Amino acid sequence: MAVKITDECIACEACESECPVAAILADGNEKNPKDGILYVKPESCVECVDHADAPRCAEACPTAGAIVWDMPYTTDFSTYYSSGHESGEYKIREHKSKGLMLPEIKSQKFRPEIPMSTREAYGNVSNF
Ligand code: SF4
Ligand code: SF4
Repeated sequence: MAVKITDECIACEACESECPVAAILADGNEKNPKDGILYVKPESCVECVDHADAPRCAEACPTAGAIVWDMPYTTDFSTYYSSGHESGEYKIREHKSKGLMLPEIKSQKFRPEIPMSTREAYGNVSNF
């Protein structure tokens, strides 16, 4: 990942079209495990690295605390994401032959300058 959309989201959908990699799913999308809020696919989000100076979704979001930092989508956090998938926090894409697209199948770019303490605290991305 990634960034994550929280329960503070008001489902205004301002962020969805801003994502350069189509990682944001609308409320009601069958691949969105959440109800009433939008969802960021951690296996797709690249934290806007190589696309923008800062996460575009957070720049478009009018709601404080709706988009927060999550863990990098790297093998170090494979267990974090596989447990989150099992608990329903995430809905990691299942590839026909490769199986669940966990970080060991395909890791994603992330912003190393974001401190792990900020990620662990689910810090607000708009403070970036
Ligand atoms: S940080 Fe960038 S890549 Fe990730 S969901 Fe937001 S807009 Fe998409
Ligand atoms: S812009 Fe913010 S409040 Fe609006 S849908 Fe996206 S995360 Fe939710």
